[in-house]
Amino acid sequence: MSADLERIPGRSEQIGPGSHVTRLLPTRLRRRIGAWCFLDHFGPVPAGAGGMSVGPHPHVGLQTASWLFEGQIHHLDSVGFSQVIRPGQLNLMTAGRGIAHSEDVGESPRGLHGVQLWIALPDTARHVEPTFAHHHDLPQITQGGLRATLVVGELLGERSPAQVFTPLLMIELLGSGDLTEVPLRLHFEHGLVVVKGHAEIAGEPLAPGELLYLPPGRDRLALRVGPDARVILLGGEPFPETLLMGWNWVVRTNDELRAAHEAWARGEGHGDLSVFGDRPRVPAPPLRGPLKAR
Ligand code: MN
Repeated sequence: MSADLERIPGRSEQIGPGSHVTRLLPTRLRRRIGAWCFLDHFGPVPAGAGGMSVGPHPHVGLQTASWLFEGQIHHLDSVGFSQVIRPGQLNLMTAGRGIAHSEDVGESPRGLHGVQLWIALPDTARHVEPTFAHHHDLPQITQGGLRATLVVGELLGERSPAQVFTPLLMIELLGSGDLTEVPLRLHFEHGLVVVKGHAEIAGEPLAPGELLYLPPGRDRLALRVGPDARVILLGGEPFPETLLMGWNWVVRTNDELRAAHEAWARGEGHGDLSVFGDRPRVPAPPLRGPLKAR
């Protein structure tokens, strides 16, 4: 393997009764790629398997990006947005100073398969008003064997409408089986995840379950995405701030984490929770001593 590439194994995490995901960020070897600070790959799970729905839970200091390959999820949040997401669409929730949402898996004959990512907000934006955006018309790029959807950022003169607060890239690459090339920004670091099928990235075979990390310093990437395969390419400027990630909150200090924890327990600080009716809030796990910011 080329000396600058890192192959990072994902790990299985239980997120609910009988529900497992592959967590690819953060890992012991790699905490982030740019401001991308969390990446779960879930499914494919068969229709009616249940267990993947999540009741009202809070977020602070981040954006959540949901992207599906199969199935659908209904998002409802404490700012008042209610939105069903389907494959090829981006749900981008900006938690800012605090939001809560529920995510419910709808019935679909094809089951559920997708990724959820978190983007750390920089200090200058982490206290913004919470909001939500749904993007169903993202740029499609077909050029020289490259078949891609531009989810976040800029590529080959196209720009995604998704609003982010640091320089970032997310594209979904669809397989053609041909050798192709993606231009990269020299100062970005990048990561690739195969969600289905097989791919060859810079000469390296890659299959689901691993993240391939590329440090800054490349201006192009040669890849071959197998027919029927799908690959997610993430990129970003290395994120210079240290973060403290506790449960669903991305903050800077243990005092901030404790304040968020206490506010959620009281039903405060995360928007208008009356939108969830009498559905119980997901309780935060107990705080266990100070966490280390990294
Ligand atoms: Mn969430």
